[in-house]
Amino acid sequence: METEIDLRLVVKVPENDPPFHAIVHAVVNGLRAVPPRLLREYAAARQERILEAILGPRYHPLPAHKQAEAPWACPRCASRRGFRRKGRRQRERTLRTKAGEVRLPLAQVRCEGCRRVFAPLLQVWHLKPYERVTEDLAYLFVRLALEFPFERSTGLLDELIGVSASPATAWRHLQQAGQTLDLSPDRCAYPLLQIDGTRVCAGEPERGIPFLVALSPRERDTSGPRPRNHLDLAGIVVNEGADVLLQPLADRPVGTALTDGDPDLLGAIHRQLPGAVASRCRWHVDHQLEYCLTLDHMPRGDRAIWHQRLRSILYDDQAPTRSSRLRLDRLSRDLEESGCPRAAAHLRGAKEAVFAFKDPTLQPCLPAPVPATTTSLVERSMREANRRTDVGVRWSVPGVTHLLTLFYARRYHHPGWSALWSCPDRDAIELRLENSS
Ligand SMILES: [Zn+2]
Repeated sequence: METEIDLRLVVKVPENDPPFHAIVHAVVNGLRAVPPRLLREYAAARQERILEAILGPRYHPLPAHKQAEAPWACPRCASRRGFRRKGRRQRERTLRTKAGEVRLPLAQVRCEGCRRVFAPLLQVWHLKPYERVTEDLAYLFVRLALEFPFERSTGLLDELIGVSASPATAWRHLQQAGQTLDLSPDRCAYPLLQIDGTRVCAGEPERGIPFLVALSPRERDTSGPRPRNHLDLAGIVVNEGADVLLQPLADRPVGTALTDGDPDLLGAIHRQLPGAVASRCRWHVDHQLEYCLTLDHMPRGDRAIWHQRLRSILYDDQAPTRSSRLRLDRLSRDLEESGCPRAAAHLRGAKEAVFAFKDPTLQPCLPAPVPATTTSLVERSMREANRRTDVGVRWSVPGVTHLLTLFYARRYHHPGWSALWSCPDRDAIELRLENSS
């Protein structure tokens, strides 16, 4: 069905023609007044038509028994038939939308059954009793607040589309969306999980609180100009242990679980994902060697040669697994003899898992879609998340939890994110501009 709204546009330009960009600016700013008027006109016209179709013409109402079933129900007795017009609400409903403030004139009806008076169009249009910000604007609040600090995000909104709001409003909408988000694991199997953790400045502890993320890479997409890694979000927890992260995945097949070797993570993988092959990131094995050599008091200048030897073993992908492990054993012994027991123990501890990706005796239940050798993908995502959270303030635990879960859900297209904003009817609405001349 169509509703036609006529508006006349008048553009007045001074005699000495201003530069074109000035006209663009004036037209765009001037047109901002149009959508709120258009929406109001539409609402008023549509409301009248719906009421007339159900209740009959304004001064010749249909008796209750002749009325068709209404597209609303009485909020008290749930009746769908038998209503009378009951004037207008004194106060119009003001809605903040991404097109600016829209004022809706609301007609009221009375239920003949229970005498309840209400505004039926609020129901027809799915407007909740206390809704003052429409979902399209709430989406922009959340979307920008995931990229920028709250104050900057609302500043940008004002600059870009002329909608002003306080940072507290953006914060509130982000918290609401975070509470509603459903982050259940969305895939039925995970051939490869990259799991990593870091800390974020929140809560009481001076060093902040931990957060853990599990990402699942899919096949590398080489169709574009640059190869891309598509990742799925398998889970995220803030201020919780690794068991809480992995427990929801316990009932589905996980092929390989790749970590930096953190003992808490390894323990949780063992407990929650007993069928998975635990694999260790080789970049980290080298990186952690530096720390062990420091503990072993090896002079800084002497360390490079050990790193070189280690890398030549770790990155020799052609070497059979057995020989790689033997070479790592030898390196470990040499470190022991050079007075570095911690470094030696570190390499012994990593020996099995760091070559798990090429070990022919370990058969993961699902083959990894990309080489399971480093956790670089999940780490990059954590640097991005830190860029948003590291803004010189201490977050509240629920505040940062909502921010991070929304951040990850959006970034990795988790269905929980799109479910927050899904509106199947939206695409069915068509808007056409017609020249009147
Ligand atoms: Zn009723």
